Amino acid sequence: MGVFPERLSTALEQRRDAGLYRQRLILESAQGPLVQVGGRQYLNFCSNDYLGLAAHPRVIERFRRAAAEYGVGSGASHLVCGHSVLHHALEEALAEFTGRARALLFSSGYMANIGILTSLLQRGDHVFEDRLNHASLLDGGLHSGARFQRFAHNDVGALEAKLRCAAGPRLVVVDGVFSMDGDTAPLAELAGLCTAQDAWLMVDDAHGFGVLGERGVGSTEAAGLDASAVPVLMATLGKALGSAGAFVAGSELLIEGLIQQSRNYIYTTALPPAVAAAGLEALSLVQEEAWRRQHLAELTRRFRRGAEQLDLPLMASGSAIQPLLVGDASRAVALSERLRAQGFLIGAIRPPTVPAGTSRLRITLSAAHSAEQVDSLLEHLAICWPED
Ligand code: PMP
Repeated sequence: MGVFPERLSTALEQRRDAGLYRQRLILESAQGPLVQVGGRQYLNFCSNDYLGLAAHPRVIERFRRAAAEYGVGSGASHLVCGHSVLHHALEEALAEFTGRARALLFSSGYMANIGILTSLLQRGDHVFEDRLNHASLLDGGLHSGARFQRFAHNDVGALEAKLRCAAGPRLVVVDGVFSMDGDTAPLAELAGLCTAQDAWLMVDDAHGFGVLGERGVGSTEAAGLDASAVPVLMATLGKALGSAGAFVAGSELLIEGLIQQSRNYIYTTALPPAVAAAGLEALSLVQEEAWRRQHLAELTRRFRRGAEQLDLPLMASGSAIQPLLVGDASRAVALSERLRAQGFLIGAIRPPTVPAGTSRLRITLSAAHSAEQVDSLLEHLAICWPED
């Protein structure tokens, strides 16, 4: 068979046997509370389109106009000739919105995290990461050459003990909202510790940006932190902002350093300019339509109240990510399939995305959902949850 085919087929078989095989859905419609798959309509409770902007008419129209004027492809990397006036305007708007001197766009959040960590860190440095951080942060830390240590989830005391033992430049890295658990990092305490220990704090706010805080700036705003407390702020544009790409915001020095050094920034084609235009429109909507955040918060409370009444295994999350802990991977898949048969799309999240024995249904709410749709989800969870 040959070594590579043999290795691949063994790995696939093992995944199948362990109930960990993954399959892609093929969507036949735009993102939204209702989506079409295989000719059938489903209520969608697994998207990260938290504010319902991915198919918003204003965002679509801005994208359409930009594509007509600037074409589809950006043509080159940012440092050659791919950096358009639309990319630049989005960077300036993001810097202003987040209260930072500068912002820099990356083509994806995954690339941004690897690019930031591998540029900022070098051999002899220390990087400390929450053990539930997103894969891109863990990968970036591991590839950075710095001494890499994980600390227990949200355990500021454990982090402090590790920081005290490490001499030299130190970077602490956390998700603002943890993507598979929905809980938030104790940012105020972490920032206090980092200041006291003379370490830098980096926050990946992929799931908080646009959603949390009075103005939607995210987890850092909700924690009352200014730019000096979080020198490296990263967030994505493919979730609450409904478009694509990511950015890092920080000082002039940080951004210029990344432009010059980050291989993930330098050696890749810039996002299509029309995507940047869509991001700009979405950012305006985030600022103009606070009702989206309020409605989402109300739906989240409604879901939690209902799930509590049904005795469903809620996790300690106040965000739009409301996982239900199942444990066993095969049961999580069976539940997801049962709900699919009833017309609900909800992903079963299994190892290696989450630790073994903690498979879960990752329910995500959106401002585009109605209260009735959330109630309907609860009714069907009540039907599907009991074990046969
Ligand atoms: N960070 C976190 C916390 C995420 O959840 C994700 C996306 N799942 C990323 C980074 C990567 O972002 P992108 O999808 O833009 O690559």
